[in-house]
Amino acid sequence: MSAQVFRGIGVSPGIAVGKALVVEVRRPRIKRERVDPARLPLEISRLRQALEASRRQILEIQERIATEVGPQYARIFDAHLLILEDRWLVEEASAIIQAQGVNAEYALQEVLEPVRQAFSRVEDGYLRERRTDVDDVGDRVLRNLLGQRGSVHVEGMRGEAIVFAHDLSPSDTAQLHRDAVLGLVTETGGRTSHSAIMARSLEIPAVVGAEEICAHVVNHETVILDGTEGLVILAPDRETLARYHARKQQLEYVGRALDKLGALPAETQDGYRVRVTANIEFPEELPAVQAHGAEGVGLYRTEFLYLNRPDLPGEEEHFAVYRAVAAEMHPRPTVIRTLDFGGDKLASAIQLAAEENPSLGLRAIRLCLHRPDIFRPQLRAILRASAFGALRIMYPMISGVAELRAANAILEDVKAELRRQGIAFDPAIQVGAMIETPSAAVTADLLAREVDFFSVGTNDLIQYSLAIDRINEQVAYLYEPLHPAVLRMLRGVVSAAHNEGIWISMCGEMASDPLHGLLLVGLGFDELSMTPGAIPLMKRIIRSVTYGQAAEVAQRLFGCATAQEVERLLLLEMRARFPEYFAGDALPGAEKRPGFP
Ligand code: PEP
Ligand code: MG
Repeated sequence: MSAQVFRGIGVSPGIAVGKALVVEVRRPRIKRERVDPARLPLEISRLRQALEASRRQILEIQERIATEVGPQYARIFDAHLLILEDRWLVEEASAIIQAQGVNAEYALQEVLEPVRQAFSRVEDGYLRERRTDVDDVGDRVLRNLLGQRGSVHVEGMRGEAIVFAHDLSPSDTAQLHRDAVLGLVTETGGRTSHSAIMARSLEIPAVVGAEEICAHVVNHETVILDGTEGLVILAPDRETLARYHARKQQLEYVGRALDKLGALPAETQDGYRVRVTANIEFPEELPAVQAHGAEGVGLYRTEFLYLNRPDLPGEEEHFAVYRAVAAEMHPRPTVIRTLDFGGDKLASAIQLAAEENPSLGLRAIRLCLHRPDIFRPQLRAILRASAFGALRIMYPMISGVAELRAANAILEDVKAELRRQGIAFDPAIQVGAMIETPSAAVTADLLAREVDFFSVGTNDLIQYSLAIDRINEQVAYLYEPLHPAVLRMLRGVVSAAHNEGIWISMCGEMASDPLHGLLLVGLGFDELSMTPGAIPLMKRIIRSVTYGQAAEVAQRLFGCATAQEVERLLLLEMRARFPEYFAGDALPGAEKRPGFP
């Protein structure tokens, strides 16, 4: 059989080579059985006992996860406990047992089925994923009623299995971790599913959303999982296997060597300091942020608080999360970006009118200025949390000074309100603007007078400057971070910031790519904020050059006329300095114009 490659979503990075094991997460089979009226009280007590046993088991899992992984992951199981402890569940099921004279298993099923259906129907991805919580708890209680054991096990394959499943619940994932699986592949799921979050924190390479893959997997056959690229290779040939074994070894070697750099500062050989910070979307990522040696959080995308829920988060909810992040990162700073909605990010609680061009529409700061009922509680919460750690505020998608002033006016008003109420906050809290529209880049000199810092969002800045939709695959070949227009804009923005004496960061994905390390240092960025896993290599790059060398490399790139020329030159430079990291990258030919039809 020849190799088959499946593409899914890589949710937990790393390479695993192991033996395939398809686990059928079997739903317990339930029959409706008539029960003698005299035995009905016994059925109800059986149900209560099964609920209690399930509660004890979940508490035990929670305790284990809290010690082995961290308390924040254990909280994933709070939802299970809430379902179990809901009086409604036991009351409804008992009523069905009594009224219909049936067995406890059937009654429980009857109560849970409409809840499952309701979750499946909702459009909101997060809520739909919560259906797995209901399934997970329901199945556990059913198994306890039926005297069956847990659903997934990798008997006899400890330490060598890559598990394939249609879907995995958080408790399955916890069990599989205990069984020392090498990797996880599911047909469903997204980045925000609890299992994905757990896999990341347990550092088990994982790919989700690999549609229909289970039908193609042969148990015990060798498979490759690439959690970084989101690839699963079934029946790999010898050459592919050798390539992945080598890549895995290289990654492990490089990872071990790089992790030693975690604690060291990102400082060039002549003492020029760059702050290397992390981008996060969930507070659950903070342990990884710390482990990889981030000197702070340079971009906390707060959208996750609003996503996938029917209502808006209130001030207290914002506050609790921000305070926890501030305290955990203290004394290192955290930049909290205010809500960046609209475009491709949508929340059920914020109904926007249909727009012809959503990414040019009512999004980000525009939406917040339009909806103070959304903006003010978030600002109040950030300010209140600033009393507990080093927080900074950052506005997304600022397009000019007027917009920035409007946002700052609301911020000042909120501060005045807090002062009147005698509520503590950091009066010197720094406020920054994201530079992600061409108009902001061009007027950076004016904007710099009104903020404490800039952070360049290259994901959007490139999209808007080059007129390339960042999510349209058809024009993806034109999405070029190294386009001379982008480089010129970056140079201008850095100098505008420094002329006004403010610091400047880059938090777009461009900063996560090690290829760009020297260029960005050479351009004069004070901070680079990236995906946590990219931090150690970036530190290694920064620590091995002088500022002058980096500036000279950056300067030379300005002589190039196309993105391909820039990339070629940069890659040659990086290869010469860091052959162990860049030797494998394809070199774009100056004559070759990749992607052009
Ligand atoms: C950016 O645009 O570069 C950025 C960091 O913001 P987001 O990707 O969230 O739009
Ligand atoms: Mg952006």
